[in-house]
This record gives sequence, structure tokens and C-alpha cells, in this order.
Amino acid sequence: MLATTAPISYRQLPLRLFQIGPKFRDELKSRFGLMRAKEFLMKDMYTFDVTMETARNTYATVSDAYERFFRQLEVPFVKVEADTGMMGGSLSHEYHFISPVGEDTLLQCSNCGYAGNAEVFGSDTETPSTCPSCQGPQLSRVRGVEVAHTFLLGDKYSKPLGATFLSTSGKPETLVMGCYGIGITRVVAAALEVLSTEQELRWPKLLAPYDVCLIGPKQGSKEQATAESLENELLQTLTQICGPEEILHDERKELTIGKRLLDAKRLGHPLTIVVGGKAVQQETPNLELHASGAEKLELDVAEVLSLVARHVRHKQKLLHEQQGELRISQTIGHVH
Ligand SMILES: [Zn+2]
Repeated sequence: MLATTAPISYRQLPLRLFQIGPKFRDELKSRFGLMRAKEFLMKDMYTFDVTMETARNTYATVSDAYERFFRQLEVPFVKVEADTGMMGGSLSHEYHFISPVGEDTLLQCSNCGYAGNAEVFGSDTETPSTCPSCQGPQLSRVRGVEVAHTFLLGDKYSKPLGATFLSTSGKPETLVMGCYGIGITRVVAAALEVLSTEQELRWPKLLAPYDVCLIGPKQGSKEQATAESLENELLQTLTQICGPEEILHDERKELTIGKRLLDAKRLGHPLTIVVGGKAVQQETPNLELHASGAEKLELDVAEVLSLVARHVRHKQKLLHEQQGELRISQTIGHVH
């Protein structure tokens, strides 16, 4: 498109254009449920720069954003050097969630932190004997689910297509391009696949539909009246701590606590609070707290509220995580 419009000026660069749209993939057998759905949403971005140097800056900026995003999800991931393959270009990285169900084989060096897709080595079955970065012998294999991909394309497409810009001297020069893709629905599906168990769905904290699920006593139970007044108080306080959109109050009182708790685990709430029989005991009323991925806890109201507040603070911290704190993983996948 940029090749056919009037040449743009260097003053309009860098230019970053993105779209979010459905992609289709025809597979005979859909494995792993949601993860390999035939239709998925993809966010694509194409970037246009004046020089290879500024295109590299763009590449670093987008890579930083991707890394920050995956870190915020708290799903174990690795950034690996990728085969430039079909797309061509000079530099390419993939982002993988680490999972035994992943379809890619990744190689990691325990010595220098280098990580690459096995495709880069031109061999998918044999582990190369030395690390391409440090020549060390400690390469190990892990499986990964690819969730994002970045390419520094250079002038591979812009040159043959005649996509140019007007430089400072007013002469047309070839645009330097990058291409970036992140599988939005795949990120969600793969994160759930990696974090969940057979018994329990588990969401990344920032993606969970609700922070807290509140389950009160069953209708007609002997503790109903007393427990319900505690339940209502708790609902108000929880709403203040988390915000009203973050609380799912399971009011299906005709169902047993056990049945509702089972549903809560299937929906994967980070925190589920049960106000049941032990909530009416004389001295300190105890609540059940089911944190996703952890054992059940019996705690008093203050302790429960303090854990809820901690969860909210943790989410805030994830949301405001700064670029500066994220340098650690930057060396991974980078060959010096
Ligand atoms: Zn190494």
C-alpha cells in the first residue's frame, strides 16, 4: 500500500501500522482444545523506518513491549532466536510459553542464557553439541508454544515493491521495514493450557474475569441467617477493595457450597471465599479461602481481607511494571 501512495516524507517516520483481525488455519485434527482453534485473532504490525539503525530501535521498542506484556501475564516464557524462514529479513525472534504440549523444540544454554528455536540449527531431531553463542556444551531442550513473532525485514519487501520515502535531501530512498505478530486468542488459550490442571482452571491474574468469587451459605442450612449477615458485610468490603466488577457473588443459594465451589474452580477465579458453617462459630468466625493453584486455607475475616488486598496490590504492580525493571530477559536469545 505504501508503495502505491505518493512517497511519504522522512518527517512522517517511523510509521507503525497495526491491525487486529481473524486468521484461519485449516487443520485436520484440532488438538489441545482452544489452543489450536481453526480461527484465531491476530494482531499484526508493520513498521517503516528511515535507516536500518532506526529500524533496529523500533525492533527493540516492540520487543520490550512484548516482553513486558508476557512478564505481566506471569506465564513462564522464553524469547528465542528464530529462523527468518519464509519471511526473510535479517533478524527474527519468537516468544514461546514453555509447555510440554508445545509443538516447537527450543534449545537453551544454561551457561550464557542463549535460546533458539531448533529450526535455527537446521535440525529438529538432533541437539547440537555446542551453544552458538558461547560455544559451551550445556544445551538443553524444552517444548514451547509460539505466541508471538518479530521480524526485522530490512528492505527485503520494500525494495522490490519500490516502497520509498523522501529523504532529507528530497530524494526517494527505500523504506526499512519490520513485521510483528502476536496471537491474541492464542495467548489466552495457551496461558490457560500452561497454567491449568485437570481439576482447576487457572488464569493469569490480569486476565481473570473476576478477582474474587464469594460463596455464601446454602438456603435452609442452620447457619444461614448468621452467615448471611457476614456474607453481606464481606461483599461490601470486598467491593471497596477490588471494585464492583471484580467480584462474582454466587447467589445460587439453592445449590450446596460444594457444588458452587466446583463451578468456581472450573471458572478459575484467583480467589474464592466461602462463608459456611465455620463462619458462625462463637469466638473467631472462620472463612474458607481457595486461592487458585494452592491448598484451601481457613482464616478469619481480617486475614482473608489482607490476602485479597495483597492480590489487588500485586495486580497493580503488574500493571505498572516499568520498562527499566525488565532488562533481565533481554540478553536471552541474543547472539553476541
Ligand atoms: Zn551459551
